[in-house]
Amino acid sequence: MNTYNQLIHQYRQIFKEKGLPPETVKAFLFELCNDNEVNLYLDIDKQVDNRVYDAFMKGIDRLLANEPMNYVLGYSYFYGYRFIVNDAVLIPRPETEELVGLILSKYDEYYKGQKIRVCDVGTGSGAIAIALAKEESALEVYASDISPEALKVAEENRVNNDCQVTFFEGSMLESYIERDIKVDILVSNPPYIKTIEKIEASVYDYEPHVALFGGQDGLYFYRQILKDAAKILNEKGLIFFEMGYDLKDDLRKLALTYFPKGQVEVYKDINGKDRMMLIMT
Ligand code: GLN
Repeated sequence: MNTYNQLIHQYRQIFKEKGLPPETVKAFLFELCNDNEVNLYLDIDKQVDNRVYDAFMKGIDRLLANEPMNYVLGYSYFYGYRFIVNDAVLIPRPETEELVGLILSKYDEYYKGQKIRVCDVGTGSGAIAIALAKEESALEVYASDISPEALKVAEENRVNNDCQVTFFEGSMLESYIERDIKVDILVSNPPYIKTIEKIEASVYDYEPHVALFGGQDGLYFYRQILKDAAKILNEKGLIFFEMGYDLKDDLRKLALTYFPKGQVEVYKDINGKDRMMLIMT
């Protein structure tokens, strides 16, 4: 039987030979240890715990096939909360945590203390909706997705995180329009990768394309949302979008077509890329 250290060394070598990032091995083992109440750093020269070893051997081939680690683990963290993920949903990204942070700070700026309604369009794992509900109890949160498989994951995440979010199955804004639900904040991280854009193989091969691709110009879903947004927004409502780093100008133009009197602000992510748009309608 191996020690943790030996196991790491052995598999780092295999990852290197395959041209895969060797850091993945320790990161994976670290997560498995945490989940089994083992402290990897204290036990690094001890024999590998049986449960950790079994889980490691079960997952390592999937990692060697370039599957994203969070799918292999079956969970991911977002805004400090744990979320189940599987191949029906996108793995929540750190950029999207920044979007949640922006919404919370704008809530304080414009609505502080008021009970308001928010909807998350294309919620996937429920990450944005659930993080908002957890962080700000004055928000009444709705969320929708066209994929029933994604909504199953989102509902499970809601229960595990013990909060209130109302989920609807439906395309874009149809669930809200049908029910005559009006909101103050509309948020969406829609699929925005251009059909022709080249993306990482592990993303392309494993993550749901329905959550990634936004047509030729990347704007297909923004258009779908913006054309109907006035029907579900209360007066002076806010729209928050995550967007592709190269969509700023086109998306601003599109937003102003539907909201000619609106004001548009763009925010960069931690990597300095234009990533978020706020439309004050
Ligand atoms: N940020 C994701 C990626 O680059 C894309 C998410 C999206 O299309 N909304 O993989």
